Amino acid sequence: MSQGIPEHVDLMRAARQDSHYIGSIDIAKMPRFSEYLANQDGQLDVDIRLGTDEHHQAFMEGVASARVQVLCQRCLQPMWHDMKTTFRLLLLDSEYKMEGLQDDVDAIVLTEVPTSLYSIIEDELILGFALVPKHDEALCEAGVYMREQQPSVEQDQTTDKPNPFAVLKDLKIDG
Ligand SMILES: [Zn+2]
Repeated sequence: MSQGIPEHVDLMRAARQDSHYIGSIDIAKMPRFSEYLANQDGQLDVDIRLGTDEHHQAFMEGVASARVQVLCQRCLQPMWHDMKTTFRLLLLDSEYKMEGLQDDVDAIVLTEVPTSLYSIIEDELILGFALVPKHDEALCEAGVYMREQQPSVEQDQTTDKPNPFAVLKDLKIDG
């Protein structure tokens, strides 16, 4: 149901008209974001507003919430991962307007009209992927292994619990 979110939009015009887009986007429509995922299952919900601020500057702001499957970076099994990214971008119609912007302001130069709205959302989702996804240790098949390999990195409060995999480790035959 991606009806509410058009793929290509004249963003400047949408901003002048104070537009609001809300809906879902098929994850399969986001090939670059999909590269970070275990598969294209899941849900992506987007809520985007476009308008002009008090300086008559066009902007776009929004929230993208995704429930996707990623590979746990410890055991490499798929796991559900919830992520939410919020953004606010000034919309510029030429490169030179980038100069003089404050450092904490994000802006995008619209070189193509209409612009791929999906591509911008995709960029924001990828930026939101700063964390390396991992199972909770109790759920992760590789948790025991990694704790033994990297005790300094994986310090936690669960080390005193009896370990169901310890038996397996003892059964392992050398050589
Ligand atoms: Zn895992």
